[in-house]
Amino acid sequence: MKTILVSACLLGMNTKFDGGNNYTKEIEIIKENFNIIPICPEQLGGLKTPRTPSEIVKGQDKVISRFNKDVTKNFKTGAEKVLNIVKYTHCHYAILKERSPSCGVHQIHDGTFTNTLIDGQGITTRLLEKNGVKCYTIEEFLTEFNLKN
Ligand code: SF4
Repeated sequence: MKTILVSACLLGMNTKFDGGNNYTKEIEIIKENFNIIPICPEQLGGLKTPRTPSEIVKGQDKVISRFNKDVTKNFKTGAEKVLNIVKYTHCHYAILKERSPSCGVHQIHDGTFTNTLIDGQGITTRLLEKNGVKCYTIEEFLTEFNLKN
C-alpha cells in the first residue's frame, strides 16, 4: 500500500483553529486503500489549538493572525517539519484541506479577513509541491486514483 499525507482535520482530528475538525466521509475510502500519515502544519509549527485564525498576506510570503501578529515563522516551521516527514517516509502524495493558509491546494483567503477567496496555495502546500509532492483535494484524489463509487 502506498503511504500518503493527509491534513489531520480531514480525518476528524480536532486540529482546526477553532478546536473543531473538517471530517469528510470520503476519507474512509482513502483509508481503505492507502497508509495515512496525519499532519497538521500549524500545530507542528507550535501554534496552539484553539488559536486565532490567520491568513496569508496577498502576494506575499507572510502570514498574519486576525490580530495582526506575524505568525510566518510558525507556518514555515510547520511546513519544514512536514517536509521532513516526507523525506523519512518517501511520500509522493498529499491530500490537503482546501482554503487553509497552510494546506490550501488551489484557493486561500486574501489576507483581509473578509472571507474573500483568491487563487493560491497554503505555505505547506507550496513547499511540498516545490519538493515533488503532488497535492490534491479529496475530490481530485478520488478521481485521480479511480476511487469514486
Ligand atoms: Fe487542518 Fe491544515 Fe489547518 Fe491543520 S493546518 S487544521 S491540517 S487545514
